[in-house]
Amino acid sequence: MRWPHVFAQDGDVALSRGSWLRSAAEPYASLAEAELADRLVSRAHPVPSAAPSQALPSHAVKAGAALLEVDQVSIDYVTEERVLRATHQVSLQVHAAERFVLLGASGCGKSTLLKAMAGFVPVSEGEIRLGGSPVQGPGPDRVMVFQEFDQLPPWKSVRENVMFPLLASRRTSKAEARERADLYLDKVGLSRFADVHPHQLSGGMKQRVAIARALAMHPQVLLMDEPFAALDALTRRRMQEELMALWDELRFTLVFVTHSIEEALVVGSRVAILSPHPGRLRAEINAHAFGLASGGSAEFEAAHQRIHRLLFDEDRAGSPLVESTSSSNQPPQALRRVA
Ligand code: ADP
Ligand code: MG
Repeated sequence: MRWPHVFAQDGDVALSRGSWLRSAAEPYASLAEAELADRLVSRAHPVPSAAPSQALPSHAVKAGAALLEVDQVSIDYVTEERVLRATHQVSLQVHAAERFVLLGASGCGKSTLLKAMAGFVPVSEGEIRLGGSPVQGPGPDRVMVFQEFDQLPPWKSVRENVMFPLLASRRTSKAEARERADLYLDKVGLSRFADVHPHQLSGGMKQRVAIARALAMHPQVLLMDEPFAALDALTRRRMQEELMALWDELRFTLVFVTHSIEEALVVGSRVAILSPHPGRLRAEINAHAFGLASGGSAEFEAAHQRIHRLLFDEDRAGSPLVESTSSSNQPPQALRRVA
């Protein structure tokens, strides 16, 4: 059975990060466990110097400072034929416990930016910082959840899947990994399925396992790349509800990629709108006021239309438009240009 990669898609990143990532696109079924462990938690690769294995101490992030900073980042894919700029001078600031959404049409560099945050893709210019320290490679403090249902090694039970990165990164003892796995499987409603294997689960259940696996790592930032895009509409809605309930309980920091305006407004507390060719920050808007119950309201529809215009408006000139980042439940405010 061909079982593709967990962290890399399309054989991408291979171009830029040498043999480790070149092999990241090989079928997983052909990998030894140790190699798989490296892919999942990047044991053998540099991690940011700021306490990668534990939650950042509260003094590490200055009050009011962003947890994750993307500072004037451009990312190029270099092939033999050409250099493709996927992301051009993007700056973003993600604060602790924020639900930050990257929204844009296909090809505008959302996945590339997310992979750069994860440390899988190097930046060509600018810098990404976590807790003030430059991101220099992958680390267990940033965990990814992908769209693909095959991100779970099929030969491991559901519980083993959740335990695996904890053990491979030596974050916990075996007993604690098992305890955490059971705790997070309970949080995603899969306690009864701990001993089954992924092929016995529906797509939505597989995504729940991937979310449990990610949260069990207690990452600084949870990175999700269109995690619900391959689900049917009803399951997708349910998963959005469950993710919001988990966030209400755990208050993790989320960077969530989607191409759906509705999903961006429902999931995000802030939404960065990207435009393509190359991917630039077009605007940033607050979505605090919207939640699962907002659909259909006049305010929701107005925000939807405004984002639609920003996504498809031909006037791309000037610096990004940014709304106030206040976290109050105020209606969206006027957009202003930032230099
Ligand atoms: P999105 O996730 O928004 O759909 P991507 O980040 O996947 O966008 O891609 C942004 C741009 O970079 C696209 O033009 C895409 O074709 C290009 N791209 C992505 N991965 C690679 C790669 N490995 N090699 C060359 N170009 C790539
Ligand atoms: Mg993508």
